[in-house]
Amino acid sequence: MKSELARDALRTRWIIRFSLITTPLTAAFGILSGVALRTETALMVLVLHVVGGLAITTGYHRLWAHRSYRASPLLGYALALLGTGQGQLSIRWWVKHHRAHHRYVDTDRDPYDARRGFYHTHIGWLLSYDPSSWGRVDVSDLDSDPIVLWQERYFWYITACMMVVFPTAVAHFGWNDFKGGFVYGAGARLWISFNSTWFVNSIAHASWAGSQPYSSHTSARNVPLLALFTGGESNHNFHHTFPMDYRNGLYWYESDISRYLIELWSIFGLASNLKAVSPTEIERARRGQKQKQQQQQPDTLEESDFSDLPSMSWAEFVLQTNSGYCLVCIRGVVYDLADFISDHPGGPALIQDFIGKDATEAFFTDNAHSAYASSLLKARRTALVTPSENSGR
Ligand SMILES: [Zn+2]
Ligand SMILES: [Zn+2]
Repeated sequence: MKSELARDALRTRWIIRFSLITTPLTAAFGILSGVALRTETALMVLVLHVVGGLAITTGYHRLWAHRSYRASPLLGYALALLGTGQGQLSIRWWVKHHRAHHRYVDTDRDPYDARRGFYHTHIGWLLSYDPSSWGRVDVSDLDSDPIVLWQERYFWYITACMMVVFPTAVAHFGWNDFKGGFVYGAGARLWISFNSTWFVNSIAHASWAGSQPYSSHTSARNVPLLALFTGGESNHNFHHTFPMDYRNGLYWYESDISRYLIELWSIFGLASNLKAVSPTEIERARRGQKQKQQQQQPDTLEESDFSDLPSMSWAEFVLQTNSGYCLVCIRGVVYDLADFISDHPGGPALIQDFIGKDATEAFFTDNAHSAYASSLLKARRTALVTPSENSGR
């Protein structure tokens, strides 16, 4: 089993290296051998870059990685199709590294750990691709997603079609520019698209860029200017603070085109169940961050007073979970997570593993939980475990 995983990682590493080397080489070779960039081809590259990029941001990222809204089958298939054409491999592959990034952000188990510098977060992590170093994440929700399964089944056909055949054929049959369609529509376009996505991982986590209005718990920063070129994704401080929110930019100057698209789709019934954090929570995070910047202590789970809660014995806590309640215990406080488990950004299985158990270490030590996560937990507190009986866990 282990060697199968290692073989799979090796194969993926070479696929990544191949595409990262051949796309700029194709573009460079075409340009040096005099393949002219015609206006029609340039427009096609621009349209495919924007549309494909938005399929990654609204589809791969906000729909599948964070489940921040629900998409109708028509929209889901369109996003999978266009997203595959961006050369960023499968939805499952993308979701895995992205959830690991959120869950283990700025640690050794983060695939694009910002502490390792710009080169690593931008492209180095892909060239030295090593999934065995990432932390464990749950992607089991994708096993029952028919669109994800369809994409996996026909992955290489869809990839070849959408990445290379489609732009080349459009330019060839549209305005007789086969070479331009291949060089610019496939090679140059993919290289530009790769970099747009990587800039979110590199610039939006760089200490010299942007601002941290919501949290300095992670290295993520809001870089509104870059949002113009990344479909809104570089409003990254907000995103890391509230990862399940379908929005990344809140204000007009944060230019979150992906958000407006999702809102438009919801008007036409193509998107539903849009998850948005309340203005109160956002204001709370902003205030907390301001206090922190002024050297005051923010409101955290550790400092909260839970003395008003009813008490419960450990045996009673376990008994209730055995009869179907979704309860976890953190530092002696019992939380009911029934209404939150399916929204957990790291996947429901990570909470499922701790139902009826003590999740203190998992919450505080193993994962990078934000002040907002503490606030979500606090709203779901139900009881205090009697200290003397909270020892047999
Ligand atoms: Zn990030
Ligand atoms: Zn994300």
